[in-house]
Amino acid sequence: MAEPRKLRATGASPGIATGPVYLADRPALVSVPVAPGTSGPGTLAEAVETAISALQDLADRVDGDSRDIIDFQIEVLRDPTIAEMTEERVSAGEHTVFAWVAAIDTHVAELEGADEEEVRARAVDILDMKNRVLGILSGTPVEDFPAGSIFVGKDIEPSRFLGHDWSAGGGIVLFGGSAAGHVALLARAKSIPMVIGCGRFDVATDSQVRIDGDAGMVFLDAQAEGLSPVPARVPPHTDAAAIDHGSLQTSDGVSIQLSINVNDPLEIDGIDAATAAGIGLMRSEFAVRSLADAANEDKQFHIYRRALEWAGGKPVTIRMLDIGGDKPLAGLDDDSGAMGMRGIRLLLARPEIARLQARALLRAALFGKLRVLLPMVTFPSEIDNMRQIFAEEAALLLRRKIAHRLPQIGMMVEVPAAALMLDTFENAEFFSFGTNDLAQYLAASARDGSDIRAYRDKAAPAVLRLITQAMTLTAGKPVSICGDMAGNPSFLPALLAAGLRHFSVAPAQRPAIGSALVGLNADGTRAAGD
Ligand code: PEP
Ligand code: MG
Repeated sequence: MAEPRKLRATGASPGIATGPVYLADRPALVSVPVAPGTSGPGTLAEAVETAISALQDLADRVDGDSRDIIDFQIEVLRDPTIAEMTEERVSAGEHTVFAWVAAIDTHVAELEGADEEEVRARAVDILDMKNRVLGILSGTPVEDFPAGSIFVGKDIEPSRFLGHDWSAGGGIVLFGGSAAGHVALLARAKSIPMVIGCGRFDVATDSQVRIDGDAGMVFLDAQAEGLSPVPARVPPHTDAAAIDHGSLQTSDGVSIQLSINVNDPLEIDGIDAATAAGIGLMRSEFAVRSLADAANEDKQFHIYRRALEWAGGKPVTIRMLDIGGDKPLAGLDDDSGAMGMRGIRLLLARPEIARLQARALLRAALFGKLRVLLPMVTFPSEIDNMRQIFAEEAALLLRRKIAHRLPQIGMMVEVPAAALMLDTFENAEFFSFGTNDLAQYLAASARDGSDIRAYRDKAAPAVLRLITQAMTLTAGKPVSICGDMAGNPSFLPALLAAGLRHFSVAPAQRPAIGSALVGLNADGTRAAGD
């Protein structure tokens, strides 16, 4: 039999996978075009019409009392006052979906404040209807590919990666791509083999390929002799007793916390909370994947509450939406890529998104030890502005008699200007180093280019020097590191020497990082006899 054709490229996530090729020629269609004023398929107007016709179907099948409730819901959906209020907010610059949600919420608040019990009870019917419409808006899935196949294409969007069922195995081969990009990060966390930087090559859809994410190899025509299929990869599961509860000690007895980074909120299902010090970073932008999700307070509340309940009282650090760069929010075209309008800047420019997320977080804070992390902070005023939003939304919840608690608010240290001036951030209650962006901005490199790895490695001494310096400016506040550097054993000595005592890494990296840490002294030197 013929030898398989081999391509040598770069491994971005380890492991071996074999399967039929899914050739993605074009980016996936993301079908939630809900920009202000649009009226094509997938718009708010269409979602409302879909909800009305589903409610009408339901009304035909239920008894008189239930029909009354449904008729009331339809009436509210058609209410011209709601439409006018929405229009007014849109004219003032709010996004259509958020404007509509705010108009509905105002109506709900009026009902909730009514004297008659019967009128107050109607608020629930409206909330149910609001969630129905948001569910329809966010439910349009991105074009998926067959389970078990090897995705081959120029790039793959985070939402497409997250929407795919990886339980049958499979892997990713990209013509371009980056090991520092967010999809690579997701692939490593989920143990999905991934090879990047192959350049364009010819391959037929459905032909068998094998990829080796450790060696960075792609074997085309994998049915050729000697390349039998490999079973779906089982994620490694080795928890040394030394890292039980996520609290361990260096060789010379200094306490270290080891937390996990969470991307897809479903990841925590397979993890025993007893083995981690909590969640050191939950990237909410991977839980809130569309504009409709961003406008859905209840959906967000349940996701955050679930993470807090999973942690059973240990700290859970949820980062507010870091939209921009290689993490766009479907349907929102405000972000300007990695530079400029990203993270907290975008949240403050679109306060309707921040306000709604703040409410969901304030409500979830009752269910555990929540710490809210702000992305891409550059100036102290950004934290003041976000605190103001939390205070105003807390006051609103209070008026509406909705239980909530103000969480701790801290910041990512991932913009060089902030790292250099950390002592001026008196309004941050804790800090978390994001070395992925810090390396990118220090080295003036793109995060999604194939050359990023070389720049990032060369910039590592500069990143470490900046972290060491910033560690002297933290005024004794809690500090952790959640960027990829924390998951690389070769950087641990320098990070320990800089004074870091709290590391947050992808769940799959936890055993290796735990074992490496217990073999080191707190000053980063290797323990005697190790
Ligand atoms: C970082 O920049 O190091 C970080 C943890 O944030 P993200 O990777 O999501 O940009
Ligand atoms: Mg970052």
